Amino acid sequence: MDRYLLCTGNSGKAKELRELLPARIQLLTLQEAALPNDLPETGDTFTANALQKARFAFERTGLSCIADDSGLEVTALNGAPGVHSARYAGEPKDDVANMVKLLRELKGVEDRRARFRTVIALIDGSGEHVFEGEVRGTITMEPRGTNGFGYDPVFLPEMSDLTFAELDAKMKNAISHRGQAVWKLARFLAERGGDR
Ligand code: IMP
Repeated sequence: MDRYLLCTGNSGKAKELRELLPARIQLLTLQEAALPNDLPETGDTFTANALQKARFAFERTGLSCIADDSGLEVTALNGAPGVHSARYAGEPKDDVANMVKLLRELKGVEDRRARFRTVIALIDGSGEHVFEGEVRGTITMEPRGTNGFGYDPVFLPEMSDLTFAELDAKMKNAISHRGQAVWKLARFLAERGGDR
């Protein structure tokens, strides 16, 4: 079995990544690797942050590491909350407070376009690799649905009448930014075969 350290303390992300990756891939948690739940992420881009988290873990454990950095970019807010998505409303991280702030910022704003982006970094003995995914949509006027995590209740993906939080996990994964990035990662791992 191939073993990878999953460099995230976000349980919503971890659940989706476990569902999306092939069953032969064993994912270790940060706790199992005796690392803190919140790895440093001080970059200006999703790529910089994904690489920063994976490098931090790889340098300390030598394990093959997978890190996801992701967030919501809203057109009318010039790309905010972006890399600050997790803490948009400040410390401590609070999904509900983030959505309340987002809906407040967009009050009376007609252009509701937004996109979710994910960058997944893989670091192992073969080097550093990144895989990206993106899904476009709009921000609703109020939260809808209880599935998922983060901004899911206010994100309506293109060509859907249901928010990410109204879709079941399978449907969200089939179209999500994370689903696309993981699909590229899984194809890369399958094509090269074997352990690194
Ligand atoms: P990160 O841990 O710095 O990558 O923060 C990612 C943040 O972006 C999460 O805490 C959520 O607020 C948001 N986010 C990322 N992916 C999703 C998603 O699939 N649904 C909802 N919110 C997400």
